[in-house]
Amino acid sequence: MATVVYIENAVRGHPRVQRVCARLVKPEIVWCERYTEVFNPRAQNFRIQKRNPALILARKHDGFVMDAPAAYAVGGDENFYFSHMLNCIYDCRYCFLQGMFRSAHYVLFVNYEDFTAAMAAALSETDKNRDVWFFSGHDCDSLAYEPVTRFAAHFVPFFESHPNAFLELRTKSTQIRSLLGLQPLSNVIVAFSFTPQPVSDALEHKVPGVDARLRAMVRLQQAGWQVGLRFDPLIYYEGYQSDYAEMFNSIFTKLDPDRIHSVGLGSFRLPRDYHRNITRLYPEEPLFTSPMEVGDGGLAAYPPAIKDQLLDYASGLLLQWVSPQRLFNHERDLSERFVS
Ligand code: SF4
Repeated sequence: MATVVYIENAVRGHPRVQRVCARLVKPEIVWCERYTEVFNPRAQNFRIQKRNPALILARKHDGFVMDAPAAYAVGGDENFYFSHMLNCIYDCRYCFLQGMFRSAHYVLFVNYEDFTAAMAAALSETDKNRDVWFFSGHDCDSLAYEPVTRFAAHFVPFFESHPNAFLELRTKSTQIRSLLGLQPLSNVIVAFSFTPQPVSDALEHKVPGVDARLRAMVRLQQAGWQVGLRFDPLIYYEGYQSDYAEMFNSIFTKLDPDRIHSVGLGSFRLPRDYHRNITRLYPEEPLFTSPMEVGDGGLAAYPPAIKDQLLDYASGLLLQWVSPQRLFNHERDLSERFVS
C-alpha cells in the first residue's frame, strides 16, 4: 500500500524531505500549509488511523528542547527531552501517545539542525562542570524509523563534538545499522525497553521480540556502545514473577552487566485523561480492566500495594547484577514518563 505523505509547503524544497521520500515506496504526496491541519482535528479515531497511518513532514518552530522531569534522570545534573517525531511505527497497548494525540499519523520534523542549535544554546547556558542530558524517545521510538529518518545518524555526531553532553536514545527497535556505522561515543546511551515476552506478545504489537532486541544490544555492546535497560512499564499480572525473573536472567547472562550504563524501573501508569481516552479506544483490553487508582499527581496507576510489590520484586532481582548507583526509579516524579 502506498504511503500517503503530507508535506508542509514550507519544507517543500528541504533536502531531508527529498531524502525521506526517496526511501518510501511510491509515496502519494499531499501538500499542506501546517501539519496541525491534518494532525489536530478532533474528529479522528486513533485506533482506526493506526491501521494505515500517513507520514507528515513538517517544520518545528519552537520548543526544540524541553525540561525533563527529575525522574527521567539517570545520573545527570540537567535533563532535557526532545522529539524529532510524534507517534511510533509500533503499537504498544500501554503507550500514552494513543491517549495524548487524536491522530496516529507520524509527524517528522525535518529541521534537525534547529534541534541541535537549541541543544548547543542550552549547553552554552549551563555550567561546564554539570552533566547535561538530552533524552530522545518521549513522543516516538528513537530508532524504529531510522532507515527513513536517519535521525541517529544526524544527531549522534553532535555529541562527538559536545563531550560534556549526553544523549539517551530510548528504543525497542533493532534498527542499529546507523550506530554500527559510527564511532561509539561514551556520552551516547542506547537504552532498550523490555517487558517479558508473553507481555510483549500481548501488548507490544509490531515490536521486535525480546531475543531480537537483546541480540541488537549485544552487538552494540560488542561494538563499544554504552547500553542501558529500561523496565518501564512493569506490568502486573498473576505469575509475573517467573516471567520477569526469566527475562532478567536471559538479559544479564547475554550482556556484560558491568558495562550496562543504567537500569530504569517504573510500574504501569498514565495521566488520568490519557488512561480514559485509551480505555475508550480499547474497552476490551484486559490491561485496562486491572485495578487502577488515580493518585495525587493525576495519574492512573496500580494501587500502592501492587506498585510496591512490582518495584520491590524487580529491583530485588536487578540488584544481583547492577549496583544501586546504576538502578533508577522513574517514579520518583510521577508526572510523566517516557514511552519507548
Ligand atoms: S511505547 Fe514506545 S515503542 Fe511502544 S508504541 Fe509507544 S513509542 Fe512506540
